[in-house]
Amino acid sequence: MSGGTDQTLRPFLWRASNLYPDREIVSRTHRGIERYTYSEYDDRTAMLANALEEYGIDEGDRVGTFCWNHHRHFETYFSVPSMGAQLHTINPLLPDEHIQYIVDNADDELIFVDQSLAPKLAGAAAEAPEFEGVDFVVMGEEGSEELEATPYETFLEGHSADYEWPDLDEDQPAGMCYTSGTTGNPKGVEYTQQMLWSHTMMTLTPQGIPMEDDDVIMPVVPMFHVNAWGFPFTATAAAAKHVYPGPSPDPEDLAGLIENEGVTITAGVPTVWLGLMEYAEDNELDLSALDTVVVGGSAAPRSMIEWFDDRGVELLHAWGMTEMSPLGTTAQLKYTLDDEDYETQLDHRAKQGMLIPSLEMRVIDESGEEVEWNGEDFGELWVRGPSVTQEYFKRPDANEEDFEDGWLKTGDVVTVDEEGYIKIVDRAKDVIKSGGEWISSVELENAIMAHEDVSEAAVVGVPHERWQERPVAFVVPTGGTDTGRLDEEIMDLLREDYPKWWLPDAIEYIDEIPKTATGKFSKKDIRKEYTDESLL
Ligand code: ADP
Repeated sequence: MSGGTDQTLRPFLWRASNLYPDREIVSRTHRGIERYTYSEYDDRTAMLANALEEYGIDEGDRVGTFCWNHHRHFETYFSVPSMGAQLHTINPLLPDEHIQYIVDNADDELIFVDQSLAPKLAGAAAEAPEFEGVDFVVMGEEGSEELEATPYETFLEGHSADYEWPDLDEDQPAGMCYTSGTTGNPKGVEYTQQMLWSHTMMTLTPQGIPMEDDDVIMPVVPMFHVNAWGFPFTATAAAAKHVYPGPSPDPEDLAGLIENEGVTITAGVPTVWLGLMEYAEDNELDLSALDTVVVGGSAAPRSMIEWFDDRGVELLHAWGMTEMSPLGTTAQLKYTLDDEDYETQLDHRAKQGMLIPSLEMRVIDESGEEVEWNGEDFGELWVRGPSVTQEYFKRPDANEEDFEDGWLKTGDVVTVDEEGYIKIVDRAKDVIKSGGEWISSVELENAIMAHEDVSEAAVVGVPHERWQERPVAFVVPTGGTDTGRLDEEIMDLLREDYPKWWLPDAIEYIDEIPKTATGKFSKKDIRKEYTDESLL
């Protein structure tokens, strides 16, 4: 028997707008800082729902967005799912052919697009049959020169601020996001109302990313990337103040927002915080309001955790995936570590962390056995839980490979220590298989990047007749470095910590490591561009 409503998103906003009508939502736009309240926000989500309904969006239809982080994009976050439609956030940094594939695969009918991203979308849509029949709304007051589109404010104008929100089934698809497709075509993940609801509740627990009503939350991670790690929903459930940093924020913009709006919790990938750290070298930075910086997407370097510690800010390392809505672990300190010394605590905080409540895991080695939790043996991480998808959208081929008995095979290779903290040692497809043993490409990369004359390094497995694969390092030296000398020094550095059979068979110097649309090293492109057996 079920009573009241199902597990859906709308009650989070109902509560925030009724109990905290004056709490603010702030956004940096091309017009400067714009701010309004939950109460006004709630009205505008209703106006948007009325406008979408008049346009012809029904329950189950998909609505796309192609936008940075701002209040209008946030309006689509509650409005579209709460009327029973599905919000599909599209990553504008993807190559055109991926965008075409995604729009076609998801069957989007209407796409909301930022003024600054209209040229990119127009380029992808030009003469692309995948875009036939798709309409556009441009975020803001004006239209677009590049796209035939309605301005957002015109789209909303004249619509009532009352909307009869339907009682939805919790299995109703509410959101959708594609992984950036480090191999093959992007894979679509559908988020049901219940998945987003449970992800919100799981995130808000003390062992997730707890938030309170006096918090000021600024997601820097883009809203087109797994719902900005769910922050727009969690911040609303907590009735906290929201701060959205707008199109392509630079370190100065972020510093200004942190200082002027009193941001207490923010989140983003390591590159964003490296930028802020560099900015702080030449500029005064007041971080006194800031409590927590959540860092994920790629591993947070230990030095970054220390940098924030020195400034009284907690860096909370987190791991997740598009398939998991996305939060999987946070490196909160377990109570058993409270009395340990700083270095031991740091050892744990630098790992990806412990599962958040409601998730379960297994770590499976090549022979199909679960590995021991000893911090050394590694295997592929499998997870399951209410916020974890059970399939990809219209991709039976990928489903066969990536799911088993209700478990998601994450494709991440990890160790688990005695306390239950996971550490990612590689992606399953990047781990180097040499003579029946595994070599972690990530460990070698980090060791090489610790050399002061190296700016970036990627290590990939190159096919080898005898050993199956052998590691080759691709290194971007800092300007003016004598690479002959560097070769020797890198090998010496690696010899200190790794067995002989882990050492790269060759070091190649290149100008830049190719990156994916989410800023990660694209090993696929490195393999395509640079590797063949002649390297060995
Ligand atoms: P993609 O980058 O392929 O678009 P996701 O955004 O879903 O896909 O990224 C998920 C992957 O990112 C994880 O499987 C993991 O490999 C990596 N990742 C996420 N957080 C971390 C972290 N804290 N440390 C290391 N790797 C991470």
